[in-house]
Amino acid sequence: KMNTDLGQHILKNPGVAQAIVDKSSLKQSDHVLEVGPGTGNLTMLILKAAKSVTAVEMDPRMAAELTKRVQSTPSMSSRLTILLGDVIKTELPPFDVCISNTPYQISSPLVFKLLSLERPPRCCVLMFQREFAMRLFAKPGDKLYSRLSVNAQMWATVSHVMKVGRNNFNPPPAVESSVVRLVPKVPRPQISYEEWDGLLRVCFVRKNRTLRAAFLGTHTVLEMLSSNYRVWCAQNDIIIEDGPLDAEAGDEADAMEVDKIEDDDEWGGIMDDEEAEDDLPDFFKEEAERETSARKGNPNRKKKGKVAEMVREKVRKVLEDETELADKRARLCDEGDFLKLLYAFNNEGIHFS
Ligand code: SAM
Repeated sequence: KMNTDLGQHILKNPGVAQAIVDKSSLKQSDHVLEVGPGTGNLTMLILKAAKSVTAVEMDPRMAAELTKRVQSTPSMSSRLTILLGDVIKTELPPFDVCISNTPYQISSPLVFKLLSLERPPRCCVLMFQREFAMRLFAKPGDKLYSRLSVNAQMWATVSHVMKVGRNNFNPPPAVESSVVRLVPKVPRPQISYEEWDGLLRVCFVRKNRTLRAAFLGTHTVLEMLSSNYRVWCAQNDIIIEDGPLDAEAGDEADAMEVDKIEDDDEWGGIMDDEEAEDDLPDFFKEEAERETSARKGNPNRKKKGKVAEMVREKVRKVLEDETELADKRARLCDEGDFLKLLYAFNNEGIHFS
């Protein structure tokens, strides 16, 4: 009996299983990580082509079945280690290649875990829901281009390997699947993951908004950046003049014009980024925490106004003068645009983490 809450869809077509292993270009010396081995259809094939396998499986019944399956072949069982647990929470041993018929619930955290490893694997061959796969390799302007696309492509070269229809699984999942190959870039790009992802979060809240609207049309973003700026100044012994604006601008909110999204029609205006991880709540929470800690560290923090205006001007300068990207929309920005932005912001002391 399958537990579909755990994404248990066993690959029943041996041809597809073999193709996945073939596409991983395994060497006999490789150590392979397999995520969610289930009953071991892929595991047995991997063991034939590689030196050893660490398989992380959440369901003890599946782990028991796999143990039983390899026991009859001692040369195989000695090269297989099964770790029982959630792969996201498991500390992983070093490995050369990752292969997974991924339980779809963990697609996003798994990709980020694999790409943020200190010693990233040579290659990952992973089965995903078709739409998630397409997000991974979507290019600027594609409908599915999102924060996930930019993030994945920053750290890895992503390619589509093959489509896999739902009838190759038992039980068949609700949607079609695709196999994707991720080849982590070597050397790893020398930028902070948190800064990069923090910038992308702001840009992709509404990916059809201009960057000007994304940054200057919302209090939340400017407040977050101001709060980070205060922390950054404190850390770098830069003394800033804080306090309320002198003029009638007692309420800074009045001083801000909110940049409306001008073409509501094309994307429905309120179109979200369709992806849970692009949702704002997390962002708000983090910001609230940062605010609290900044406030604790600086008793004058409450008198806001001047810093916020200073940050606003810096942001405007970066978007309009330095990068000239103010009128561009996230959905059309490529990696180079985002890198340019991050560099210019950081240069002004504006940080996202
Ligand atoms: N690899 C097998 C195959 O291709 O036939 C089974 C793949 S099935 C789609 C996903 C497997 O991952 C299931 O065995 C499930 O129990 C396991 N699983 C689900 N969530 C997991 C998690 N967080 N960590 C590790 N394994 C998980």
